[in-house]
Amino acid sequence: MQEIVLVTGGTGYIGSWVVKMLLEKGYTVRMTVRNKGKKESYAFLSEIASIAKGSLEIWEADLLKEGSFEEAATGSDAIIHLASPFTLRFKDAQKELIDPAVKGTKNVLQAATKSGTVKKVVLTSSVAAVHGDNIDMKEQGLEEFTEEQFNTSSSLTHQPYSYSKVMAEKEAWKIHDAQEFWKLVVINPSFVMGPSLSPASNSESLSFIKDMLSGKYYLGAPELMFGFVDVRDVAKAHVLALENEMAAGRHILAERTTGVYEASQLIKGKFGNKYKLPLMRSPKAMLYMVGWMFGLTRKFIQRNVGHTIRLNSSKSTEKLGLTYTSLDKTLEDMVLQMQKDKVVS
Ligand code: NAP
Repeated sequence: MQEIVLVTGGTGYIGSWVVKMLLEKGYTVRMTVRNKGKKESYAFLSEIASIAKGSLEIWEADLLKEGSFEEAATGSDAIIHLASPFTLRFKDAQKELIDPAVKGTKNVLQAATKSGTVKKVVLTSSVAAVHGDNIDMKEQGLEEFTEEQFNTSSSLTHQPYSYSKVMAEKEAWKIHDAQEFWKLVVINPSFVMGPSLSPASNSESLSFIKDMLSGKYYLGAPELMFGFVDVRDVAKAHVLALENEMAAGRHILAERTTGVYEASQLIKGKFGNKYKLPLMRSPKAMLYMVGWMFGLTRKFIQRNVGHTIRLNSSKSTEKLGLTYTSLDKTLEDMVLQMQKDKVVS
């Protein structure tokens, strides 16, 4: 068992669950934050650490600063690299998405090599590094996406977040293949849902459900299909990847693939008419007219809306031993957490 684990992005939506699980298992977690003085971004984790078996160290490092992770990596047995912006609200995709994802991965993994102590790196990639547009499946003549595919349809101007993830994962494999000190295991979650521990996350996972509950899609939900997975299962997958000696390669995580409207109906099934959930699926023709209001480009609508995707996540159950929480329970717990924290009424 690795004892000191360096975690980047531990203050975030997924990262905070990873840190919590590691602390409860007795690890020493060396968590990097951009600004150590901003205690409110990690106070909730210090509180968890105060009653957990493990201990929490706070180190300062920035994805964009070369050499920034070297000190924290030295002496660590393993690294879980989660930090990367997950936002669809940006002005400059290169600066706000691609640079932190790609340069950040390079900085963190070079620090792993230099450390002389790190034996394993678990990288949080995404299914966005497996495929870009939903139509890719049909265009590539596939029945489903597996860990064999890499996203070839995203670019700096079309789905730049997905582009940031595929470029970062490729960079990680390149750096891994050029050394022999540490092993790389990659986790590729689909759209992550479920309760948040973090008060400061800007994750799109949280905005998506908040928007849905606030009535953003009331008149019609885009006919968009995603894979969905529980945040607690994603964190568990990271810990399993860390601890399992046999873990190798990439791992798609998805409990199921389903549409936005269908997901909203699961919430409706639990909470009735309390929220202004979508009344119907929005016709594609209508979306071409109003899509800009939701930040959807014509090309995005054309290549994603109404196109089915299937994700094969069997490797995660067979090789990591992951079991999945049902999406109904995931969404119910997420809404209850948002109510408790007064994110929604
Ligand atoms: P999140 O809550 O926004 O967390 C992102 C984390 O990255 C935060 O801890 C943030 O730290 C850190 N970060 C961002 N820019 C940084 C920088 N320049 N230097 C250092 N740290 C920086 O998002 P999340 O949803 O948990 O996502 C975590 C990871 O999972 C990302 O790699 C994301 O691509 C991946 N992922 C997410 C989903 C999903 O549906 N949520 C699905 C697949 C993959 P600060 O507190 O300093 O901002």
